[in-house]
Amino acid sequence: MLFTDMNIDSRIIKALEENNIASPTEIQEQCIPYGLSKQKSHVIGQAKTGSGKTLAFAIPIIEKINPKNHHIQAVVIVPTRELCKQNASVFRSITIYKKVKIVEVYGGASIRVQIEQIHKGGQILIATPGRLIDLIKRGEINFRQVKFVALDEADRMLDMGFLPDIEFILFKTMKNISPRLFLFSATLLAEIKNIIGKFTKNDIVHEIDVSKDSLTVENCDQYAYNIENNKFWNFIRILNEERPDFSIIFTKTKRNAEKISQRLSQERNLNFGLKVGFVHGDLSQAKREKTVSMFRKRELNCLVATNVLARGLDFPKVSHVFNYDIPRDPEDYVHRIGRTARITGVERNVTTGKAISLVSSDNRMYLKNIEKFLKRKIEKRQIPNVPKKVLKEKKRNNFHSQIEPRMIKKSLNQKRKKYSSQNTSKSSTTYRKGLSLQKNSKKNHSVRKRGKSKNYSSKNHKIISTH
Ligand code: ADP
Ligand code: MG
Repeated sequence: MLFTDMNIDSRIIKALEENNIASPTEIQEQCIPYGLSKQKSHVIGQAKTGSGKTLAFAIPIIEKINPKNHHIQAVVIVPTRELCKQNASVFRSITIYKKVKIVEVYGGASIRVQIEQIHKGGQILIATPGRLIDLIKRGEINFRQVKFVALDEADRMLDMGFLPDIEFILFKTMKNISPRLFLFSATLLAEIKNIIGKFTKNDIVHEIDVSKDSLTVENCDQYAYNIENNKFWNFIRILNEERPDFSIIFTKTKRNAEKISQRLSQERNLNFGLKVGFVHGDLSQAKREKTVSMFRKRELNCLVATNVLARGLDFPKVSHVFNYDIPRDPEDYVHRIGRTARITGVERNVTTGKAISLVSSDNRMYLKNIEKFLKRKIEKRQIPNVPKKVLKEKKRNNFHSQIEPRMIKKSLNQKRKKYSSQNTSKSSTTYRKGLSLQKNSKKNHSVRKRGKSKNYSSKNHKIISTH
């Protein structure tokens, strides 16, 4: 099937073609006809990550918008600022010929500017919940002409964290009029229909699930490494083995995202080039936008992020997703790893990808829950050996920043034995130096290297070589 067979405005088709999009994906093929139909019905659509859900609701919305009416006719609600901007650009890319105006509103940016945009008139409003509520409370938004409300990442929008906000917005939008609801996600709970029942009332609800038997895409290899100690060091070994072109590393906390990013950018034992940035919810909007845009433009090839980047974002050609901290919620796992193996590039090829998780006995339960949720086993792998080249490099640099503490201890013990048997004054000095370093390395301290003072922290295992 082609979009030209779907009774879609030729201006939209032309814009799609210019984006190299000619035939619908499965979710688009199934949902768009319901969206276009005159019958008042709602659509709940489930399809895997990267399968084109945005256009599955964007095309019918744009088709039904009257460009001559300058009031808001559709509201699209998304969980994050990044997704808000991305969806706005997808809508814009296919409205160039139909001249429909898109306004995006999200937190962290000037509300005054956004109010001005709304006053200038726009037919499609794309919003994050917090900012939208703020605008509603200020009386800046008029929902009287709204025909569609779409919840992208609908399960996230209706989970405990967002539900009160979304209910508030839906009550406001559906007070006097009854727009049609579009709910889309890769992971929709069975209860979702009940949750929105009070808004859909007795209307027809089409439930479309094209995710088949598995929630994750086939072209993404998934495996897990069991790592009990020295997580960062072992992660370096995995990175050296994988040498990812473009990767996202997910951490549980904002602090860890920042820390891992900093350690990676200082890491000397990587055997490939890594330009790394970090993104989390506490960064200024300007910094968030800059880092994401650098990653999109490939000025960075690695992002360390919290779940703020887990959903919906369509970065081109992400080769690897690493769960440095494996997520507790299986849904988060599905969305995180869905940043790789997507339809991508101007050629619109389906790419392959790898999703690699680090697991320890503390969080093995999370992996088990994920496997249960996915109804499949995730392959367990052994940590690769340290490549000889890297070890040589380390020796040459006289730098042991990331050597496993256990290895250092072992080498010190060997030295201790050797030196105590020889008991020469020169070697005992060296031996004492080694011991004192090992002892001092338990806390932040200053050691002398070629007459210069440097600060080293045991946390980073930064220890001067005793060779
Ligand atoms: P999802 O929301 O399901 O994760 P997106 O809507 O973000 O997926 O789309 C993923 C990628 O697929 C985007 O780069 C988009 O441009 C592309 N895409 C969407 N629909 C089609 C199509 N029919 N043909 C080719 N590429 C498409
Ligand atoms: Mg999406």
